[in-house]
Amino acid sequence: MIDLKGKTALVTGGSRGIGKAIAFKLARAGAEVIITSRSDASSTPVVTEAQKENLKISALSGDVTSAADCRRIVQQALEAFGGKLDILVNNAGITQDNLFMKMKEEEWDQVLATNLTSLFHFCKAVIRPMMKQRAGRIINIGSVVGHTGNPGQVNYATTKAGMLGFSQSLAKEVASRNILVNVVSPGFIATDMTAQLNEEQKTTILEKIPLNRLGQAEDIAGAVLFLAGDLSSYITGTTLHVNGGMY
Ligand code: NAP
Repeated sequence: MIDLKGKTALVTGGSRGIGKAIAFKLARAGAEVIITSRSDASSTPVVTEAQKENLKISALSGDVTSAADCRRIVQQALEAFGGKLDILVNNAGITQDNLFMKMKEEEWDQVLATNLTSLFHFCKAVIRPMMKQRAGRIINIGSVVGHTGNPGQVNYATTKAGMLGFSQSLAKEVASRNILVNVVSPGFIATDMTAQLNEEQKTTILEKIPLNRLGQAEDIAGAVLFLAGDLSSYITGTTLHVNGGMY
């Protein structure tokens, strides 16, 4: 049993999909959780659902492509948590798929800003408080595509591969302060993101997954809970693959 009682966590992109499942998983283990999304409208139903279970999940809104919003969110989270943030989960992410020949600069810029530059801003804002605490867990949500590449996803795969180098390097810089930095790399998970795939694409993907099903958000949340708790206290700078055996 992983016990997060007394721990505080900030989960970006927690209004649905994987981020929402992570928030519930951490809160059910006893943590006090703040989720983020672009608007209160998308996060309020999650907070209401959590209240029915007496879980401590609240929400802050802001755009992760804005450095000022990332800093403000961390500041507000620290204030709400009495100055202590134990766990940061960088989960907010988007796809804007296109073959490279057709990919527009805006599609490149938007995906990089959302999935990768946000990592810089959130980690920058939490690293000092975590160093003072001499403890912290940073868990970044990557993708199998960052390891394998995928046609139509040059922008997305770049962000997820970049996240690996970022996490391995930061892990080495802050290990002496007992701050652990790891990546959870999902395969194909049933969320709004993969709902965009057509039947033919889904069939092709399923053929590559030995466990023969898309993953559930819950599968990723379990891996995050493991990396957030005491059972993983000697693991840093690594990637936990959660992809049904496809990679
Ligand atoms: P999702 O269902 O589309 O949810 C995305 C979340 O990110 C939402 O909470 C959304 O909030 C938030 N978000 C997006 N852009 C934002 C922005 N600019 N500012 C603030 N929040 C923003 O996605 P998901 O499938 O759960 O994916 C979550 C993470 O897992 C992503 O990093 C994704 O790359 C990764 N992943 C997913 C899969 C998969 O198969 N689903 C596979 C590998 C990796 P709003 O309510 O504001 O829209």
